[in-house]
Amino acid sequence: MSEKTVYTVSPGGFCSGVRGALEIFQEARGARKETIFVLNELVHNSRVRQNMIAQGAVFVKSPDEVPDGSTILFGAHGVGKEVENKALEKSLDIIDACCPRVKKLHREAAAVLPENALVIFGNPDHPEVKGVAGHARTKHVYIVRSIEDIASLPAVLPHPLLLCQTTRDHLEIEAFTQKLKTLYPDLTANGGVCNAVFRRQQAVEKVIPFVDAVIIVGSPHSSNANRMRDVARRMGKAAFLVDSATELPDLAPYARLGLGAGASTPDEAVGEVLKYLQTQGYLQKQLPSEHGEVSQEEDR
Ligand code: SF4
Repeated sequence: MSEKTVYTVSPGGFCSGVRGALEIFQEARGARKETIFVLNELVHNSRVRQNMIAQGAVFVKSPDEVPDGSTILFGAHGVGKEVENKALEKSLDIIDACCPRVKKLHREAAAVLPENALVIFGNPDHPEVKGVAGHARTKHVYIVRSIEDIASLPAVLPHPLLLCQTTRDHLEIEAFTQKLKTLYPDLTANGGVCNAVFRRQQAVEKVIPFVDAVIIVGSPHSSNANRMRDVARRMGKAAFLVDSATELPDLAPYARLGLGAGASTPDEAVGEVLKYLQTQGYLQKQLPSEHGEVSQEEDR
């Protein structure tokens, strides 16, 4: 067996949207004495959630659970108009930590004329997708989970606009868009995964030739972390998503590892996994420089 090595996949960890949402929470925490109620989750990570609870945040599933006049925080994935209106009806003080990239999708969904169609490629149960659909003024909204599900769309769609969940696999979005274009030639397709997600997926793709398996640190309900693991699998490598070192599988078959982190994973979580791997004899290394680096820039 070759020398035990772990390559850190970079970029990884907090994206600008997650950092922004956490800053908004910290500012609110510092400036207010009253309880901050957080709708669903600020970002999809169990450690972040626990830290917030330790700081007094109370997580709720609906504005209905929040006492009138209290403070409610909307997370990075955003909410639909209906949820916003419910919070306003209860005179809640809204702090909106929605990522600017998701806000852009809200505006695009709202701009679709009532007689036209909006197709959203994404998981209908994910808060981001619900939020985007919840900003549409048209009734012709179709949420499509997979390329296979395109078959369930009507044969004719009036001037469709395609919007995509920001955390899908970038290649899957390309294939989805191409197929939809062949069926609906006047389709307008506005973007794909956000840059932060794209660069994290690219970074996984680059490490693949050098490793036997990839470990992604992130929570099981983090869409982008799941996609990073899936990118490694679609390229034929064993890949595991773990929230902490205690969830690592038997690594005996894998001498060379790639270690990456989802966009909502705190650095401490990755650091702990790295430390554990080092105790197991894995030596941390950089990818060979001729291999090229993935840009660390993130547009907002
Ligand atoms: S992954 Fe992209 S869309 Fe989601 S919070 Fe981060 S920057 Fe925003």
